[in-house]
Amino acid sequence: MTDKVVILGGGPGGYEAALVAAQLGADVTVVDSDGLGGSAVVTDCVPSKTLIATSELMSEMDGAAELGVNFHDHEGDAATGISVDLARVNARVKRLAADQSADIAHRLDKEGVRVVTGRGHLDGPSRVVVGDDTLEADAILVATGAAPRTLSSAEPDGERILTWEQVYDLTELPTELVVVGSGVTGAEFASAYLALGVPVTLVSSRDRVLPGEDADAAEVLEEVLTRRGMTVLSKSRMESVTRDGDVVTVRLTDGRSVQASHCILALGSVPKTGGIGLEESGVELGDGGFVTVDRVSRTTARGVYAAGDCTGVLMLASVAAMQGRIAMWHFLGDAVQPLDLKQVSSNVFTAPEIATVGCSQQAVDAGDIVADVVMLPLDGNARAKMQNVQDGFVKLMCRPGTGIVVGGVVVGPRASELIHPVSIAVSQRLTADQLAHAFTVYPSMSGSIAEAARRLHRV
Ligand SMILES: Cc1cc2nc3c(=O)[nH]c(=O)nc-3n(C[C@H](O)[C@H](O)[C@H](O)COP(=O)(O)OP(=O)(O)OC[C@H]3O[C@@H](n4cnc5c(N)ncnc54)[C@H](O)[C@@H]3O)c2cc1C
Repeated sequence: MTDKVVILGGGPGGYEAALVAAQLGADVTVVDSDGLGGSAVVTDCVPSKTLIATSELMSEMDGAAELGVNFHDHEGDAATGISVDLARVNARVKRLAADQSADIAHRLDKEGVRVVTGRGHLDGPSRVVVGDDTLEADAILVATGAAPRTLSSAEPDGERILTWEQVYDLTELPTELVVVGSGVTGAEFASAYLALGVPVTLVSSRDRVLPGEDADAAEVLEEVLTRRGMTVLSKSRMESVTRDGDVVTVRLTDGRSVQASHCILALGSVPKTGGIGLEESGVELGDGGFVTVDRVSRTTARGVYAAGDCTGVLMLASVAAMQGRIAMWHFLGDAVQPLDLKQVSSNVFTAPEIATVGCSQQAVDAGDIVADVVMLPLDGNARAKMQNVQDGFVKLMCRPGTGIVVGGVVVGPRASELIHPVSIAVSQRLTADQLAHAFTVYPSMSGSIAEAARRLHRV
């Protein structure tokens, strides 16, 4: 008999699971309320990285004069100013997100997955209700995602006080911007708008930006951002955000305040797990309302799995997708490896980018893992010099005895691409010597990864 799978939520956690389940012969229905692709495609990853594509171009233009490129106006006089048409940028962002969502809908349709549009809820562990429809299921996957956290003292108005989902309705650049929150999302928007030419103040409650990332990487980023003119207010906790006409005021708990034309709130996420019948169906919710799952995505209710941001395991599209696939491999009896967070590679899309994989320097410093660490600045790399890249580094970590690579960090342009060889080394348990012996192109940034691996060679 064909297994019936019902998936609540059409983001990466949900639609990737749907594709696996369909491939394995299940009868699959995806219930989604806000657009296939989920927040990842409609409001979060895809839009923000599309905006950042424009900001990257602006950052590169910044270094044009050093590489001998001058701009001139229509009369041939020297010109230094280039500007961004935010209405066009945001129209492109929305078009790309809509296209990507349509591509996913097309792919699901092609694979025979049924899509039901609407807000669904569980009615016990084997039934999902959407409007008048009741869907019986042998297995349910909950992949409902998360929403931006908001505070009553800083209510977004969608015009000048904005969550990250609302920024794409802007048609003109802010004259001044305050970003509240210096985690990954806050740092990415602050870096992007700075590159677009907006004066930015970043309010950070911690003593440095990106408190969860590699400390050396965060230090480089903060140094670059302040050098480019950003004001970083560290150890500054936001008390309230209010608007009076065109002016937004961000008050801090120490009595100071900052004024700007706009404010973006990046205060973290809350899971969309309330009011959808989870606890009533035996699905345990842990701290903050996240669904409790094990490493094969099982919840506490038999036959109910969960994946992605609603589980709070690691809020990345790639992890959501893997949790969803694992759930289906497990339920449908295919070969399955439990989720291994030590192999996840991730990237902060600031300028410079920060990419990491495997174990962290923090874990090494805390004595949780024994590893040799080498950190190589990029400014010694021939390609970096040619491209006028001054900031960044490659860091590699390997086990002292075996030389097996256990982690790495890359800070620099396109670090998201450069981390891949390190990610392969970590997942395949390659040694630093093996990584060093593979040819790299000369000149190339990846040469620094091989060089760092050579420096880890022990006789
Ligand atoms: C600004 C920003 C940028 C990001 N950039 C990146 C990045 O570059 N790379 C990366 O890996 N991650 C990134 N992330 C994280 C990434 O967006 C999330 O980890 C990812 O979206 C999680 O996928 P998901 O499937 O769990 O949930 P979502 O993508 O949120 O999808 C859940 C879907 O379920 C729907 N839904 C919710 N409740 C119901 C219901 N009751 N019935 C029916 N449907 C429902 C929602 O409307 C939504 O469509 C970013 C996050 C933010 C905030």
